[in-house]
Amino acid sequence: MSELQKTFSIIKPDAVSTGKAGKIISLLEDSGFRIVGLRMTKLSQSQAEGFYAVHSERPFYRSLVTFMTEGPVIVMALEREDAVKKLREVMGATNPANAAEGTVRKLYAESIERNAIHGSDAPETAADELQYFFTAIELNQL
Ligand code: GDP
Repeated sequence: MSELQKTFSIIKPDAVSTGKAGKIISLLEDSGFRIVGLRMTKLSQSQAEGFYAVHSERPFYRSLVTFMTEGPVIVMALEREDAVKKLREVMGATNPANAAEGTVRKLYAESIERNAIHGSDAPETAADELQYFFTAIELNQL
């Protein structure tokens, strides 16, 4: 059995505003994730820009930042075996049109941009993203 791993996730503004957060959290728990940290927050422009800095040269960057700041999000630290990879699986493809049946994005995403959920793409990214949203004290308690 592989070791427990933590990853970072955001329930994006589209899913929070349309009342899908509870269903998404249930799906994650039913998929074996334990919620070890959770907070509702509203991203400032600079927080969203910093979080998506890797995409700053992409044509959709401004639109993505506007979307991610339009309303509250729920940031979460999630734990299970192989958490990073398993979360990417349960999220589904970036574009919901390509997402597998039963995935969060197939069930709840509106479009390639308004796609309901974020999940870290690698263990190193997960560590960085957890630190971006949770304090050292909170992370020690996770
Ligand atoms: P993810 O890891 O599956 O979330 O996808 P990426 O890291 O490639 O992109 C980050 C986020 O940018 C996605 O989750 C979408 O919200 C948005 N995004 C990605 N590709 C596109 C695109 O082609 N157009 C638009 N408008 N948004 C996109």
